[in-house]
Amino acid sequence: SANEALQPLLPGATIGVVGGGQLGRYFVLEARRLGYHTWVLDPDANAPAMQLTEHKLVASYDDADALTALGEACDAVTVEFENVPAESLEQLARHCRVAPGASSIRIAQDRNVEKAVASQHGLQPVPFAPLREMADISPAVATVGLPAIVKTARLGYDGKGQIVCQTEADVKAAFISQGQTVCVLEKRIELVAEVSVVLARGYAGDTAVFPIAENVHVNGILSTSTLPASLDEALLERARQLALQLANGLDYHGVLAVEFFIDSAGEILFNEMAPRPHNSGHYTLDATVCSQFEQQLRALCGLPLGSTQLLSPVCMLNLLGDVWTEGEPRWSALFEQAGVHLHLYGKAEARPGRKMGHVNCLAETRSEALALAELISRELP
Ligand code: ADP
Ligand code: MG
Repeated sequence: SANEALQPLLPGATIGVVGGGQLGRYFVLEARRLGYHTWVLDPDANAPAMQLTEHKLVASYDDADALTALGEACDAVTVEFENVPAESLEQLARHCRVAPGASSIRIAQDRNVEKAVASQHGLQPVPFAPLREMADISPAVATVGLPAIVKTARLGYDGKGQIVCQTEADVKAAFISQGQTVCVLEKRIELVAEVSVVLARGYAGDTAVFPIAENVHVNGILSTSTLPASLDEALLERARQLALQLANGLDYHGVLAVEFFIDSAGEILFNEMAPRPHNSGHYTLDATVCSQFEQQLRALCGLPLGSTQLLSPVCMLNLLGDVWTEGEPRWSALFEQAGVHLHLYGKAEARPGRKMGHVNCLAETRSEALALAELISRELP
């Protein structure tokens, strides 16, 4: 009930997370550090968060019995990724507090829907058009222009399910190669920069925004996030306001990440949102007063939101499975460097492109932090 939602959940309460990946792992670590009991629901008994949680439920995300058990065991439940069926959250919400809500999750699951919703709230999405059937292609190309990118509307991550197209014939071939599942056609933007805004919004509409990360992607996968961002202060402030506008418009509860493209005209284009902590917010584990995961817990529990103050310039470098190609990474090269914080997710198998961990490189200045990350990425493999 609304009354229950106002009652803060204090240490000693029991908190659950649906999804056992690395984001859930840090949520569990922070929750346990703060004295909460934890449950994780994931089909993989050895998933990153399952290794560290006090209690686990090994089941699929739509297993009705498991959801009932989770909802009955927990005072509040959150998600660590957006592809949890919204119906599962609705089922959980009959037993305990759930944030973010099913409606926000539903929006974030579909690239066409999230762009349309962002637009309704006054953000400017990347020019896009839905592709539902072959007949949509010509008008979509006319709307969006070329070159363009075909992305599956659902379930894509780390650049998966994305095909760059130069011609309308390419778009047709791409749509067919996606199995004619619902896609989005997006204008390919000449990116000047990419930034992400990670924020939290509490039940009372209180908000806290983390410093904006400047992100570099390689092959569609996040490579580095650097703070402070090197962009114009006024532009960063606009991005902050846009992200807040979206969170407020959605009456969002929890941690929300909003990815923006900056084009050559200095326009801030909405790319996508994530209803949870974000890879580009991992720097907060070592470089802000409160991490994005503690913030997720605070928002869920109805506690005051923590300080998002940046304590040091930082460059977060993702460690992909590629680093393991020649065998175990040269960890000594990393431990020799002051200011480098290693995070590994406990994944047994290192595959190319798979996120295995990250390092947060802290230094006196932004450029020194970047240089440290470059050194690590050279020396580690
Ligand atoms: P994912 O869900 O895999 O993160 P994104 O849509 O965020 O999917 O795409 C991943 C990355 O690919 C982006 O961060 C950006 O670097 C690049 N990218 C995606 N869409 C576009 C676009 N329309 N124009 C230019 N680059 C893009
Ligand atoms: Mg993305």
